[in-house]
Amino acid sequence: MEAVIPKPHLFIDGEWIATGAGEQALINPATEQRIGSVPHASAAQLDAALDAAARGFAQWRRVQPYDRSKILRRAADLIRERSDAIARQITTEKGKTLGEAKGEVLGAADTFDWYAEEGRRAYGRIVPPREYGHRWLVMKEPVGPVAAFSPWNFPAMLSARKIAASLAAGCSCILKPAEETPSAALAFARALQDAGLPNGVLNVVLGVPDTISTHLIRSPIIKKLTFTGSTAIGKHLARMAADSMKKATFELGGHSPVIVFDDVDIDHVVQVLLPGKIRNAGQVCIAPTRFYVQEGIFGRFSDAFAKALASVKVGDGLDAQNHMGAMANGRRIDAMARLVDDAHRAGGKVLAGGARASDSGFFWQPTLLAEVPDTAHVMNEEPFGPIAIANPFRTIEDAVAQANRLPYGLAAYAFTQSSRRSIDVASALEAGVVGINNLTVSTAEAPFGGIKESGYGSEAGQEGLEAFLNTKFVSEA
Ligand code: NAD
Repeated sequence: MEAVIPKPHLFIDGEWIATGAGEQALINPATEQRIGSVPHASAAQLDAALDAAARGFAQWRRVQPYDRSKILRRAADLIRERSDAIARQITTEKGKTLGEAKGEVLGAADTFDWYAEEGRRAYGRIVPPREYGHRWLVMKEPVGPVAAFSPWNFPAMLSARKIAASLAAGCSCILKPAEETPSAALAFARALQDAGLPNGVLNVVLGVPDTISTHLIRSPIIKKLTFTGSTAIGKHLARMAADSMKKATFELGGHSPVIVFDDVDIDHVVQVLLPGKIRNAGQVCIAPTRFYVQEGIFGRFSDAFAKALASVKVGDGLDAQNHMGAMANGRRIDAMARLVDDAHRAGGKVLAGGARASDSGFFWQPTLLAEVPDTAHVMNEEPFGPIAIANPFRTIEDAVAQANRLPYGLAAYAFTQSSRRSIDVASALEAGVVGINNLTVSTAEAPFGGIKESGYGSEAGQEGLEAFLNTKFVSEA
């Protein structure tokens, strides 16, 4: 019997499997120390997961939503009971503060609850037929076994969205969490097993990402793909999915603009934006990043935001005194250094931070760049770190043109006290989610997803369930 937070294992057909075809080290980014190892699934183990998912689907689709819902709700309660231990493991694997990790796990439990309820409302409809005595029915049916890929930045929330939606719709699921953060997904598998989920309905595999995604997506057993990660990998997986016309949901990168008009209370807006920028050390696809600030308040806003960023305590996420934890790995630190250097060389100013926060551990200082030209890399490439850029604008048209300039379209924000400006800017921003005077754009109840090169399809909300259902029209005479 495995502990409530299993050590990294494969979970196939209800079995916890410690060894595969290879392994990789699990590293704590705050200490750079090895904290465990992660098994890599062999091709035979992936085939076993596919077989289990096919059998699991045949069984699970016959379990009625009322009973599926009970298992999901029981799992949500177990996740809440175990949330302290799961959160501690997330912080140790990925560096975010313990408070953030706990909030994420509780949010994941809410997601299980939301889908437990929403699965009971997978309504079809009755269409008036053209002939007397006929019946025209629109039916909703689960798509079938799902291949799901969740990233390292929100290992609990983004795994929960994929698992809970699949299971609530009546699908089985093979999830590949990021190898750097396997424990939250495994803890959810454990909670679902304890809640009575039949074997094979959920399987968790780990390994070389491209080997696993190629193996699963090419299999005729898999009927749906759901992925959160970078736009480059999303495009690669979309091409593979297209070969067999598999349904897919892609939640990819962003580069969120924030338009700050000159009628705001600057101190209040800084207080709202600061936690959004430093959350998870900026490794958030909806993090506020490109600040377009109306010219009359540009200087005052930049000074206030730089001061707020400089006051952030950076350090090990397990220490409650720290406001911001470590970045995920050394690659992110290298990316921050490259982006800041390039922006500086392009003529941008560094108003706060701009360097590593310590010699050991992957820590970066919260950074504010200002007056950076559009040609600099940081204005075009998602920083995925604690870097904000402030540039001035004159008119609403200029600000919207700047905000919509990039191929990304995930989140966009605006701050103003004018309802006219709120309405105009909310309609003009090219984004899947828009926050006006706040940053709360991702909850269990509302659809979340991007447009343009930020992906397609939604997670959460009614749309999140619909993404795992086929529509069938039945005409009865
Ligand atoms: P990456 O592109 O190598 O990996 C991103 C994620 O995709 C990881 O979770 C990884 O396990 C997975 N992945 C990579 N190749 C895959 C494949 N062939 N098949 C299936 N899954 C695959 O980049 P990285 O260095 O880990 O992260 C850096 C970039 O990734 C960031 O700059 C950011 O743009 C993006 N990212 C976005 C999100 C998001 O929430 N949208 C999350 C994590 C990373």
